[in-house]
Amino acid sequence: MYNTSRFFLNGVLFMSAQTYEFQAQAKQLLNLVINSIYSNKEIFLRELLSNASDALDKLRLASVQDSELNVDTSDLHIEIERDEKERVLKVIDNGIGMNSEELQGLIGTIARSGTAEFLAKASESKTATSELIGQFGVGFYSVFMVAKKAVIETRKAGEEEGYRWESTGDGTYSIEEAGSLPQGTAITLYLKDVDEENEVADYTQEWTIRDLVKRYSDFISYPIRMLVTKHEEIPADKEGEEPQHVDKEVMETINSMKALWARSESEVDKKEYNEFYRRISYDWQDPLKTIVYKGEGTFEFQSILFIPAKAPFDLYMPERHKSGIQLYVKRVFIMDDCEDLVPPYLRFLRGVVDASDLSLNISREILQKNRQIHAINKGIVRKVLDTLKSMLKDEPEEYRKFWNEFGRVIKEGLYNDPAQKDRILDILLVNSTHSSDLTTLEDYISRMPEGQKDIYYIVGENRAVLEKAPQMEMFRAKGIEVLILSDPIDSIWVETVSEYKDKKFKSVLRGEIDLGDEAEKKAKEEKLSEQKKDLADLLTSMTDNLKDRVKEVRLSSRLTDSPACLVSDENDPSPSVERIMKAMGQDMPSIKRILELNPEHPIIKRMHELFKEESRREEVQDVASLLYDQAVLAEGGEITDPNSFADRLSKVLIKALG
Ligand code: ADP
Repeated sequence: MYNTSRFFLNGVLFMSAQTYEFQAQAKQLLNLVINSIYSNKEIFLRELLSNASDALDKLRLASVQDSELNVDTSDLHIEIERDEKERVLKVIDNGIGMNSEELQGLIGTIARSGTAEFLAKASESKTATSELIGQFGVGFYSVFMVAKKAVIETRKAGEEEGYRWESTGDGTYSIEEAGSLPQGTAITLYLKDVDEENEVADYTQEWTIRDLVKRYSDFISYPIRMLVTKHEEIPADKEGEEPQHVDKEVMETINSMKALWARSESEVDKKEYNEFYRRISYDWQDPLKTIVYKGEGTFEFQSILFIPAKAPFDLYMPERHKSGIQLYVKRVFIMDDCEDLVPPYLRFLRGVVDASDLSLNISREILQKNRQIHAINKGIVRKVLDTLKSMLKDEPEEYRKFWNEFGRVIKEGLYNDPAQKDRILDILLVNSTHSSDLTTLEDYISRMPEGQKDIYYIVGENRAVLEKAPQMEMFRAKGIEVLILSDPIDSIWVETVSEYKDKKFKSVLRGEIDLGDEAEKKAKEEKLSEQKKDLADLLTSMTDNLKDRVKEVRLSSRLTDSPACLVSDENDPSPSVERIMKAMGQDMPSIKRILELNPEHPIIKRMHELFKEESRREEVQDVASLLYDQAVLAEGGEITDPNSFADRLSKVLIKALG
């Protein structure tokens, strides 16, 4: 604030306007808006009308919730006044209004989340600015794209004093007391000159405004009134004379006012849904999918749900586990971001829910325990998952887009919402060894050869490494399909989901694996038990030698080319789960794994021979240690003691080179 002056004149207190500076961020934003080449300047009207509509919502809600507040809500409306000659446009509402603190707090600063992000992005690339403006929405500030000066005159419902705010968008604004203004807010814009080149149209023209209201704000549930010119024909007095034409100014409601969700789906144009989506989501693109859903039965509700085309940048930020669903009760706006209506794994949804039987006084705390809200939540979950399933079947390309953006979020539902596990598994897409494209579990099962009982998967961080992992050799040799789960979240859900359609999930990296038909298995078992007897001493000695690093050294039937690999014990968590838990700061003991050896491999055969010679046992142990490290490297892991590894390797190499 830089000037304050109060003075008395003839005993009356005069308070001149006080000048304030916009908050730094707000200033930056203003600068961007004013200087931007954003072509969609007309959206300023949508922003003003939507603010006015919110202010009317707030007044209606306040009048129900606060019995002390004595306000007339019988004719809530918005009025647009135009002055073509003076180039002035006015938007007036009789809503909640603002007091002086609110004027400063709400208009002079920007509290909207994402603004800092917006500014950072905008300063990075000038060209992206216009897209960003559309994406984030700049609210009231957008008026400075079309106005040289804006004046807000407002009086808060229930308060005596009104205020006048004024700014030319140059970094400062002033506020002064303005006496007993009508309750609500009037915003006057002194428009810039028409500039077709820069897309500044003449926003004082009747048809321009009509067109903008129809396009952007038709569904606002309060009347938007404007004086319009009507041509009237006055019949001639006498026969043979021409009828007379006169132009009459009449007040007309220029929006249809019907809440979009209350209209039947067939009667609403797709464009209207899209426009509605943009209004509530601050997205500039059309949604990927619109779901119109009316709940019937014990609890009635109407809803419109949107799946955005792109994931917002903050989808994975924990503080944003909010929902983008607005709650209405019988057309009265109650709240934004109603978290109880959708589970966190559907937090990408945007939309509205209008419930018929809730109390208008409902608070966030009560919502959590409300049976109707629970029922609506359940209904929405089912509807959305069913819609996704139909999309997967009927619009595979659209579904793929959805999955790329939100698949990871949906997977959270596999462990957060066990009741919906099967529905989510139905729409899951995963990578697989047998398909260059993502596959569904159903398709995997349909490709399973006779005799295969389980769904095989491998988890880890890197798809390329996983595909070549030694543990996959036998699967590759036998042509058995393995799901490749390389998304970090995969290692979490796959631990909690044990089966799908009576088929168990089985990790390639864990426990014993027996592939092939019965006769083959039997022959293999017999051979293996022979080899076990044969190599028993070597295995015991290796287990003992590597006991700090492994649980056991045993023979394997899963290898064909590699000498060794690591697997987890049947009931131990996989190494990727261990890594995730540790990354999240969980204290977890390191879990030892099992080193499996390929008895057919020349290295193992030679180790066995050398082991029989007492003098060469040390060499055998060096090789054993190298085999362990090699197995770690082969699955993309990191060896814990690279120096010892290098020493042993040199020793062995020198020997090999004679
Ligand atoms: P947003 O509407 O996205 O919050 P705006 O910059 O458009 O951002 O408006 C900032 C705030 O100013 C609004 O949230 C609202 O509280 C207040 N406001 C704006 N216009 C009006 C109005 N016509 N009546 C009452 N309050 C308003």
